[in-house]
Amino acid sequence: MTDNGNTVSATWNRGLAPPVSIPWSADVVVIGGGIVGVSTAWFLARQGIEVVLCEKGHVAGEQSGRNWGWVRNQGRDPREIPMMLESLRIFRGLEQQIGESVGFVEGGCLFAATTDQQLQDFHDWLESARDFDLDTRVIDAGGIRRFVTGAARAWKGGLYTPSDGRAEPHLTSAAIARAAARDGASILTCCAVRGIESAAGAVSGVVTEHGTIKTSVVLCAAGAWTSMFCRSMGISVPQLKVRGTVARTVPADSVLEGNLFDKKLGIRRRQDGGYTIAHGSILDHGITPSTFRYAVKFIPALKKEITVLRLRFGKDFFDELALPASWPLDQPSPFESRRVLDPEPSQRILRRIRASLGQVFPAFADLGIAEAWAGIVETSPDVVPIIGEVGELAGFYVATGFSGHGFGIGPGAGKALAAMLTGEDNPIDLEPFRLERFFDGSPIKLQSSI
Ligand SMILES: Cc1cc2nc3c(=O)[nH]c(=O)nc-3n(C[C@H](O)[C@H](O)[C@H](O)COP(=O)(O)OP(=O)(O)OC[C@H]3O[C@@H](n4cnc5c(N)ncnc54)[C@H](O)[C@@H]3O)c2cc1C
Repeated sequence: MTDNGNTVSATWNRGLAPPVSIPWSADVVVIGGGIVGVSTAWFLARQGIEVVLCEKGHVAGEQSGRNWGWVRNQGRDPREIPMMLESLRIFRGLEQQIGESVGFVEGGCLFAATTDQQLQDFHDWLESARDFDLDTRVIDAGGIRRFVTGAARAWKGGLYTPSDGRAEPHLTSAAIARAAARDGASILTCCAVRGIESAAGAVSGVVTEHGTIKTSVVLCAAGAWTSMFCRSMGISVPQLKVRGTVARTVPADSVLEGNLFDKKLGIRRRQDGGYTIAHGSILDHGITPSTFRYAVKFIPALKKEITVLRLRFGKDFFDELALPASWPLDQPSPFESRRVLDPEPSQRILRRIRASLGQVFPAFADLGIAEAWAGIVETSPDVVPIIGEVGELAGFYVATGFSGHGFGIGPGAGKALAAMLTGEDNPIDLEPFRLERFFDGSPIKLQSSI
């Protein structure tokens, strides 16, 4: 493994330095230093709101530093597109605004089809997104050759969005966190939140491992930990996890500048001249007690993905079983015992990624792999985020369930969340993302045909 400063592990393998002191109060406390939490903190700080962000490990130590780096409208559930359009606008101006590179390039996004059914699904998706006036179009095999060179796959056509892009996960959230700090936010790492204090039915404080911060507004943007955090407060947030295995290659010739997805291979160009690669469609789920707890709500998602689901039974089940449902706030919590979710990449899936890379791009059959890693993706039952005030406690909000595509939408979500938390007019309608949709009898529907 080489270390050229672009390693994913560089994002989360820094020494753990707890804060020297913590503020005793804040207008808003954000739990979680992923892209959603840091973006929210940044937009709040820019409005002069006193915001404290608590992260149990490092900024972007989990999903936000381990993802593929795709920033796309293409293929999304229509409910997400207004927020994603805003996110793309933010990404376009981000580097200039914060004065740091995040590797954002509008390199285009292509989903390539090998079957007529896939092509039909692309047409159906385009129809569902018609109202948003995107630059997405269905292209033929000749069109694909203008975007990708050296591919040996006989694609029938593809769905292509020139304005979609990519950014570097190992840079983006940390850069936004630094911008938030410059604008006045307190970003506390190695600072797990154990729970919430309340008075008269409303939030009154946040209990961290280093002391209590008085506040009346809390946003729980705790990624894969949100369901467990909320459960300890008696709030049910249906959420399941899948492991994603990813690798990056050494620098190589350019075969594409953007992102390509073809069911067996997800590949995008990197700022360092290599490629981030993954298998296009394996859902690698370790069965846990939550699988049974939430199974009924996930039936529509399971039906859609049944052919790509790989179930494992073993350590994950017993690890979750051993976790307490709640804990005293004056003693170490489960969040302190697992600072960073750092799963092992699957060697079997890595072999399949390598094989697919060589099949699609024969010139890359022996391309060196510089690094491999895995991340835990958390997903909601309809694969769309859960955002809003939840439970009986006034002032307690969640933003979670970004379901494997929250990196691209993260800055847009942060802007919308900041407006929600301050009660400002929100240009993004957050109603479709309310938690209650899973409990009030609304049909649980996956609205993207792809
Ligand atoms: C392999 C993989 C590939 C992906 N590819 C893409 C892609 O190409 N494009 C895309 O848009 N999205 C992608 N995603 C999804 C995307 O990474 C996530 O949706 C997004 O990063 C979620 O951000 P977040 O801030 O909600 O959560 P996270 O990044 O998971 O951050 C949550 C943070 O909360 C912290 N935390 C939890 N509990 C506590 C506590 N009690 N106290 C303090 N801190 C706490 C955690 O330590 C963590 O750092 C991918 C994800 C993975 C894993």
